[in-house]
Amino acid sequence: MGPGTEFGFELRVCAWAERSWPPGSDRDVPVLVARQLGWGRRRWDTLVFEVDSTALGERGAFGPERLNGDLLHVVRNAPADWAYYRDALPHPGYPWRYVREAIHEAADRDVLESRKQGRRIEIRRIRPYPDWIDRVVAIENKPDLDASAARALQGQLERDVALGLADEVWLATERTGDRVEPALLEQIPVDVGILTLEIAADGGAQGAEVLWQPRSLEVDRPGTRIVDRAETGGYDQSAATFEYMSPAEKRDKRLEIGERAYERGWRGYIDTMRSDCRHFDLLRVDPTYVPYCRAKDREQTAHECRGGCPQFEPEPPAWRQRGWPLSGGPGGTVARVLAERRARQRQAGSAESNSTSERGSASR
Ligand code: SF4
Repeated sequence: MGPGTEFGFELRVCAWAERSWPPGSDRDVPVLVARQLGWGRRRWDTLVFEVDSTALGERGAFGPERLNGDLLHVVRNAPADWAYYRDALPHPGYPWRYVREAIHEAADRDVLESRKQGRRIEIRRIRPYPDWIDRVVAIENKPDLDASAARALQGQLERDVALGLADEVWLATERTGDRVEPALLEQIPVDVGILTLEIAADGGAQGAEVLWQPRSLEVDRPGTRIVDRAETGGYDQSAATFEYMSPAEKRDKRLEIGERAYERGWRGYIDTMRSDCRHFDLLRVDPTYVPYCRAKDREQTAHECRGGCPQFEPEPPAWRQRGWPLSGGPGGTVARVLAERRARQRQAGSAESNSTSERGSASR
């Protein structure tokens, strides 16, 4: 039994990264892992944030919800003593009225103090916003990497390297056991690391092997965004077009993505899946749980496990009375356990716990 889908593989990569990052090293690095986050049209499959665990703990005082770009601008620049907001904050690059809205929202969320002095709004910080992200690692997952998949990925990975928003870019693929892993034979940019995940017969991820070390990208230098370029190997001779991203923009973007990762983690998939379906189950595959559909008798994807699924059947009401909490039956419990784990990962960038009590509470 294996993941069968990119979605299942992705969950295993996230779980493995949470427990074992960085690959091929004995260093113990606290991490926060997220999936399917990015900016613009780019979404990375897996994002690993290497964090300062003390600073990550301090971030908790700002609440579990993300601070968006506008809120971050206000919270990060708020002064220690009362000051008129336009004197205290750098010009945001957009109209001040949006800053006023952000101030009101920040005050409502108790992450900033504000007061009216005549017609003026003054602000004061409650606490400094901590610098909790050390490094950002982007991982592209492709379990069955063949030549055409590699070709499709090549341009995207080159864009990631040119932009340098992440400190490292990796490609994760499933180990084939061939004498030479196919990933080494494909045209993957040399700056991109390659790792293979070994999937056991029971579907668990047994470990990862680094086939190729990535180059550390220069996140403190301007990045190049390839907006448009000619098709590789075609007859299109048109010039490529680029945009530049300054180091300050990159820093802001990394933090905004980090805030979304802080809110969602990688277990947020449960929020869109039908865990209230009687066929929904979670399967224990080391080192994590993966969704399993008893009707399809296989791991389902988040995309197919939705309201439109033709095999959806609601949990029988009786399930909610057999010792399950009043707020839901087994599916509700599964969702709660995953939410608790997400919260725990936020607190310390900690690895997933394997305690048997948690295992018992999540499985049916
Ligand atoms: S039957 Fe459909 S909705 Fe129910 S668990 Fe399976 S995939 Fe999800």
